[in-house]
Amino acid sequence: MTKPTGLADPDLFREAALIGGQWVQATSGASVEVTDPATGKVLGRVPDIGAEQTRAAIDAADRAFQSWRKRPHAERAALLERWFALMEDHADDLALILTREQGKPLAEAKGEIAYGASFVKWFAEEARRIDGSVIPAPAGDRQIVVMKEPVGVSAIITPWNFPNAMITRKVAPALAAGCTVVIKPSEFTPFSALALGVLAERAGIPEGVVNIVTGMPAAIGAELTANPTVRKLSFTGSTRVGSILMAQCAPSVKRLSLELGGNAPFIVFDDADLDAAVEGAIASKFRNGGQTCVCSNRILVQAGVYDAFAQKLGARVKAMRVGPGTEAGVEIGPMINAPAIDKIRRHVADALSKGATILAEATAPSGDQYAAPVLLGGATTEMELASEETFGPVAPLFRFETEDEAVALANGTPYGLAAYFYTESHKRAWRVGQALEFGMVGLNTGSVSTTVSPFGGVKQSGLGREGARVGIDEYLETKAFHMAGL
Ligand code: NAD
Repeated sequence: MTKPTGLADPDLFREAALIGGQWVQATSGASVEVTDPATGKVLGRVPDIGAEQTRAAIDAADRAFQSWRKRPHAERAALLERWFALMEDHADDLALILTREQGKPLAEAKGEIAYGASFVKWFAEEARRIDGSVIPAPAGDRQIVVMKEPVGVSAIITPWNFPNAMITRKVAPALAAGCTVVIKPSEFTPFSALALGVLAERAGIPEGVVNIVTGMPAAIGAELTANPTVRKLSFTGSTRVGSILMAQCAPSVKRLSLELGGNAPFIVFDDADLDAAVEGAIASKFRNGGQTCVCSNRILVQAGVYDAFAQKLGARVKAMRVGPGTEAGVEIGPMINAPAIDKIRRHVADALSKGATILAEATAPSGDQYAAPVLLGGATTEMELASEETFGPVAPLFRFETEDEAVALANGTPYGLAAYFYTESHKRAWRVGQALEFGMVGLNTGSVSTTVSPFGGVKQSGLGREGARVGIDEYLETKAFHMAGL
């Protein structure tokens, strides 16, 4: 066991679930090991909470909901502000826990903590602005008051690639709206969630408002989706699991927010600023080692600049530093686990067998934890990496001739999360921006994630939006109160 050392506040590292204000082990005694992806060694254990204790967490959330929903908005806002301040105070420890369980370089982990905390701040502010409206009624003796009410107990299921921010992006608006939550973090990265639970408790958020259940997903997920007390599921993860959970929620008709997989195109037109496009490609492709839902998966380059772009990007890819996330200067950490490495290798081998070539490759430490960043030329739509998220540091270049061809290639996927394109022509910018069927589009930028802008996808990338002004609406119901006889 190699527990994280160097934490200023070791109490943030918890190996217990949080149910109704109590830190508990599984009544069955079962636990799940969590490994450090940089070493493959066990980092700690968390309880494997089954269906029965998940039910207890839902009941605790329901009891807490009865009073939390009635708290004045300003009080909920003040508690969220305190939670935010504690996250800022403990940012270094939160980042270290995150890097040790997830692998990303410490600088990126710090960035994620700041990003994650920003949602708590933002929705603390939004909590004060939940209001309704009065509609003039057709009959003279009536008023119609439109009110916003919290949806109720919300199940929050999150992935391993952003173990902090994917939680706060959901929990902060839920709490601001007056909902209570049962969080099920990824079994690969539960410690960041549990550290957030410690800080929520210290902030004075009442017991039962935030519950965290850890362990293997199927039993917990079955209870969270079937239990009628849970009124809402907010899920971030793969399209495959999202659609299973959607089906499981159907019998009890729950509200759904789904942030699912992507297959982002990154288009470089002949008239692009190539140096800017290279910077954008590096940022959007290699962030988090390529393990991001908005990472560019397919880089489409117009024939006239294909060779020049490939050369510039290749030089950058070759120079990338790969190693443990805790080592200074490392840009690409270990991949999350062996299946992730297998998928990357499978995609590269498949592409090479179908005619792709390696244009540039970085060096990675030996061992099964690391994938070397690689630039592939001559990618085609027949290759697996064209239709599936690789979720690793593989950058395939596809050549195209015309704008129409690029748009058709970009849209030729069942996913619709993020897309990027580079051009210096404002007419083309407007045309292509409108033609791309994605929830988020970046023009001359490789980044579309910010607290203030709606985040989410179309098609099989999901339902609903997170962040921004609209993020809180996902946790609010609209009630029309018709008052007659006035
Ligand atoms: P995943 O779908 O395997 O797991 C996501 C979560 O679902 C985890 O907590 C997992 O334990 C849980 N889960 C799995 N099976 C379950 C079941 N039967 N019942 C209940 N819960 C279950 O995804 P992942 O590998 O953790 O994350 C990577 C995926 O997430 C990628 O596809 C990526 O694109 C996507 N993602 C999307 C966004 C977005 O905002 N759209 C953000 C980050 C990641």
